Amino acid sequence: MQSISPETIYRGNSAWEKSLPQITKLTKSPIILGRGIHTNNLRNKIFIDLKNHNLRVKSANLQFDCCYEDISRVKEIISKNNHDSIIAAGGGKVLDSGKYIAECLNIPCVSVPLSASTCAGWTALSNIYTKDGQFIKDVSLKSCPKILVYDHKFIQTAPSRTLASGIADALAKWYESSITSSTIDDGLVQQAIQISRVLRDQLLIDGEKAFKSEFENNSSWRNTIEACGLTAGLIGGIGGEKCRTAAAHAIHNAITQIITPNKFLHGEIVGVGLLLQLRLEEMKNNNKLADQSIKQLLVLMKELNLPTTIRQLGINVFENNNLEKIADFTCREKSEIHFLPFEIHKQDIVEVIANFEKQKIKT
Ligand SMILES: [Zn+2]
Repeated sequence: MQSISPETIYRGNSAWEKSLPQITKLTKSPIILGRGIHTNNLRNKIFIDLKNHNLRVKSANLQFDCCYEDISRVKEIISKNNHDSIIAAGGGKVLDSGKYIAECLNIPCVSVPLSASTCAGWTALSNIYTKDGQFIKDVSLKSCPKILVYDHKFIQTAPSRTLASGIADALAKWYESSITSSTIDDGLVQQAIQISRVLRDQLLIDGEKAFKSEFENNSSWRNTIEACGLTAGLIGGIGGEKCRTAAAHAIHNAITQIITPNKFLHGEIVGVGLLLQLRLEEMKNNNKLADQSIKQLLVLMKELNLPTTIRQLGINVFENNNLEKIADFTCREKSEIHFLPFEIHKQDIVEVIANFEKQKIKT
């Protein structure tokens, strides 16, 4: 069984308002799930709108990440108050928690992404972290959210850093799926991979303009946020498990194991992982195009103020055994790194990261 997309998608400038009649039919007592203070105003608006439609509505905030501590706490609040749906309004961690909790309690989830930082508003997948932000595992869910509300006015209020992060995460789709799934003889998977190529091209064309632009009436911005928040999700939906993540996400997951004082966004870390994946392809698979891809991506990533080394993520890999720790986690038994069509050993990761970080110090 494969859940390809949310049952209903509202998109555009008044998506939230347009979704209200359906939401009020779906639920009588929703809980609004969120996290960050800077999105409080938007959640207040959602709260008031729902209240004005005579719904019995409450709010709850995550204290940490999409972690078991928060998940249990919110589950209890929902059970105690008999809520009949979750409206997850926030970034990827909030959306992932909302979807996961809704599935556990067998109630519908409405996802309302408040930035373009991930495609979590679309997918039937939740990534679980520790409360310190260390990746634990991803969980496949039975279904995508019941309703996805992709309101451009909400997305406009997000810091531009979230858009850059979303672009890096969406770009990874092509580089990861094309290498892991290119030998799969399944038309739908092949088509999903081709969509990810078009998505990459569109981001290479429009990404920088979208990042630097004013929003209103700007088609680059609109296309880019929808590429990151919707198309990237669709690729996961059509391609399913076979349209896989590979080294970029495996390295992301490993980097999150090192706890740093400054938190970085998912796509910011995936972007660094993507550059490292391409170096691995060059080194282990003799991929001559990988170096070209790195150069092309670096130009865009610099324009988007994205980190391009692990050092820029606040981690010195040459201290505290960090390089070992990252290589160990990247190559652990269940890691996505093993979806690569060539064998990867811990020493390869150590070598590629060490070279990359040293080279970057010099330049
Ligand atoms: Zn991702």
